[in-house]
Amino acid sequence: MKYGIDIGHNCNPDIGARGIRQEDHLTMEVGTRVISKLKSLGHQVINCKPSRASSVGNSLQQRCNIANFNRVDVFVSIHFNSFNRQANGTEIFTGSDTGRRIAQPVLDNIVKLGFFNRGVKSGLHLYVVKNTNMPAILVECCFCDAQQDMNRYNPDSLSDAIVRGLTGQTAPNPDEAEKKTILELQKALNRLKIRDDNSKPLVEDGIIGNATRSATRNFQRLVGITENGMAGPTTWQAIEQILAKPVLRANHAAGTTVKYLQHQLKVVVDGVYGVVTATAVQVFQRQEGLTADGIVGPKTWDKLFS
Ligand SMILES: [Zn+2]
Repeated sequence: MKYGIDIGHNCNPDIGARGIRQEDHLTMEVGTRVISKLKSLGHQVINCKPSRASSVGNSLQQRCNIANFNRVDVFVSIHFNSFNRQANGTEIFTGSDTGRRIAQPVLDNIVKLGFFNRGVKSGLHLYVVKNTNMPAILVECCFCDAQQDMNRYNPDSLSDAIVRGLTGQTAPNPDEAEKKTILELQKALNRLKIRDDNSKPLVEDGIIGNATRSATRNFQRLVGITENGMAGPTTWQAIEQILAKPVLRANHAAGTTVKYLQHQLKVVVDGVYGVVTATAVQVFQRQEGLTADGIVGPKTWDKLFS
């Protein structure tokens, strides 16, 4: 079989939903694993995600073109839903009876992981379902803005479920997919200027070692989460909260992002944006040639990051 695997979004300006975790991050974690597992089972795989796009429409069109040009047998688009933080579970969209026969076992396997079954649905309104020449399914794995789904989320078990649903086979977990996540972690910690125990930036090699573990621990200590040196969902959630560059104002902000801000400004880290922090922000903004308004917006965040 020749599979066209479409890792949803991850192609600016085609960006996924932002929830507790970012859809872009989740589709990448699951999609890279699905691709390597299918390959390890001896299937042909075409990665249908374009590397650049001029618009969202262009991104979607390229995904279909890649699948059509390569004449894949089945097109599988991987996404995560977001709605109102309460809605949860798994649904799969498709446009034909053949598509339904492919979608059903994939859905069944994901639901076995504990996700709520929202069913196989008509996806004729979806661009990639409509514009691919072969049976296509679009998997909404679960909701990236629902806490209960994110607690259950595990890229290894999800990719196993998708592969098992598509092929009836189970692949061993390859190291390659694991490497990706560690590389992303190293890049994120470097961007946040979080150093290892020798105060050095991390080497971005995708390999977990003492330096990456110690930098992860340093970050965890800073934001007040369990220091285990391993980047689980809570750690990623904190990293992504900061990298989302939320607007912070005095007396209106608290928590993880403020702790990080205070650490960078070298003031007491208490997680509360009060007068002392506001003054330090203004001093920093003046130093960096920004408007010294004491409000941390995107420009101030960019100066705080590397
Ligand atoms: Zn999506």
